[in-house]
Amino acid sequence: MIHWQLIRRGIVNQRLLDVMEKIPRHAFVPPDCRKHAYEDRPLPIGDGQTISQPYIVGLMTNLLDLQGDETVLEIGTGSGYQAAILAYLTKTVHTVERNLSLARQAQTTLHQLSIANVAFHTGDGSLGWPDAAPYQAIIVTAAAPEVPNPLLLQLADGGRLVIPVGARYRQNLELWEKKGENFQHRSILPVAFVPLVGEQGWPEDKWF
Ligand code: SAM
Repeated sequence: MIHWQLIRRGIVNQRLLDVMEKIPRHAFVPPDCRKHAYEDRPLPIGDGQTISQPYIVGLMTNLLDLQGDETVLEIGTGSGYQAAILAYLTKTVHTVERNLSLARQAQTTLHQLSIANVAFHTGDGSLGWPDAAPYQAIIVTAAAPEVPNPLLLQLADGGRLVIPVGARYRQNLELWEKKGENFQHRSILPVAFVPLVGEQGWPEDKWF
């Protein structure tokens, strides 16, 4: 996974590669998927949700450019795999999940791996998590029709937001950076994520 899926595709950040080598991805997927845990694809984690392809996890994390002392917000805890990676790369992680059973399972998995700098929250992450804002980095692991304004408002000066934005089956991964009162953004590559369902995302019934 590290060599063929990450390094060969241009992810060369050694700190990130070391963390992704260390974290047991198989611990984050259901037992019947474990034999596929290191394959080059997303996998089902229950309730119609997925753990993202390793390359996309690496790419999105790399774009955050973490130095080790940030407070990071993740929207879409899912299996907890992305949160575990962030936990090793920075000081504090806040992760928000709308599905209570996924959030509970993720919390158990991180506890078993003795990862203690992740705060779990349940609710509509399309509104961010204002209580711990501002964040030096925000990562959204579900697709929004547009960038949710509350997330931009919760970004610290110089902070980075990585988010898939677009339509039902195809989105673009976007990187937003806050510079003073302004935001710069660029499109990174086409992706296909499950929906961000919520007030600033997709209404549940319109998605399907
Ligand atoms: N980061 C996850 C991981 O490492 O396994 C993968 C996340 S999965 C692709 C997307 C997740 O976003 C799902 O668990 C889904 O329930 C969650 N989600 C969708 N809309 C949400 C919202 N408004 N707030 C919080 N979580 C949301």
